Amino acid sequence: MTKPRIYLSSPHMGGDELALVQEAFATNWIAPLGPHVDAFEREFAAKVGAAHAAALSSGTAALHLALRLCDVQRDDDVMVSTLTFSASVNPIVYEGARPVFIDSDRGSWNLDPNLLAQALADRAQRGRLPKALILVHLYGQSADIDAVADLCEQYGVPLIEDAAEALGATYYGRRTPGIRGQKAVSPGTRGRLGIYSFNGNKIITTSGGGMLVSADVSLIEKARFLATQARDPAPHYQHSQIGYNYRMSNVLAAIGRGQLRVLDERVNARRANCARYQAALGDLPGLEFMPEASFGRSNRWLTCITIDPAVAGTDREAVREALAAENIEARPVWKPMHRQPVFAGYDVYGGAVAEALFDRGLCLPSGSNLTPADLDRVIAVVRGMWRS
Ligand SMILES: *Cc1c(COP(=O)(O)O)cnc(C)c1O
Repeated sequence: MTKPRIYLSSPHMGGDELALVQEAFATNWIAPLGPHVDAFEREFAAKVGAAHAAALSSGTAALHLALRLCDVQRDDDVMVSTLTFSASVNPIVYEGARPVFIDSDRGSWNLDPNLLAQALADRAQRGRLPKALILVHLYGQSADIDAVADLCEQYGVPLIEDAAEALGATYYGRRTPGIRGQKAVSPGTRGRLGIYSFNGNKIITTSGGGMLVSADVSLIEKARFLATQARDPAPHYQHSQIGYNYRMSNVLAAIGRGQLRVLDERVNARRANCARYQAALGDLPGLEFMPEASFGRSNRWLTCITIDPAVAGTDREAVREALAAENIEARPVWKPMHRQPVFAGYDVYGGAVAEALFDRGLCLPSGSNLTPADLDRVIAVVRGMWRS
């Protein structure tokens, strides 16, 4: 008999979601929008410290609207982290614009601010500054927001933060490195616009959904307008812009409100998973964990390791396959966007760091609902690969 499957990151309901959904049913607020959407936006904005929020059908939809709100058009350039999920990049191409990929630094796996400085100087010299920058906060770790935001300000490039994976993480600021509690912010709230995802594998989920946040209420109002088919204010149906059907339903917002109430517990559970893995695997030669940068507190959405085959005597694929044989889901670190067939031919600054992380990196099961026995199973398989 096969052992029960251990997933990479599966949905984990709290206690209140069903009652909130039942309330939506009892009041017949099934159809689009409704009081749960309004409340979810308010509660979410308060939780992350954003002034305004719009609940949407996905994180990808939120990014697409963010690009529209920055007036990204055909043949514009948009800079974006290369080490990420394709959803960070697809909306750039929806608009006919061109992604320009920027490599990561080794210390945080996130966009390298030094390389960004070089890239922006290069583009400024050529008279082709990007229309926006999408900064990804990878695997729950905040990028170095101050460094990136300063550069964006210097060159007048709007900053869009892709915090799809980083809800519940914290950025302390680099001007006081390592000093916790000083001007801490949530990744996603510093840029002109920030996005979050409630996809099924994220730290909290509405089955599918996303959020767009901004300090600028006019941007969020415009986002709500574009997300509901861009209907002009008139009694008849009149449109003078292309819109989308991108709003979150009231039923899913009810789930989101329940999930938000347990976000802190979910972060703590995922950080505890990572700590357990570190304690149990940290001595294995050639195995390293994704570092936690001094300037932030990660939500450890996924626990990621790298395996150096020359030292370990095994490699990423062998470990992944051994886990799969035990019905345990593990995934390679994101394949960099500049190496994706669909994005071939677009410019990239650097790339070797992201490539090395992809070649050696593995994401271990990280759900907040994993049991100690689940973690023991994963640990036993991984350790077994070092024993031969
Ligand atoms: C999940 C994810 C998205 C997209 O979110 P969806 O809600 O699935 O559309 C965007 N960016 C990153 C980095 C993600 O991990």
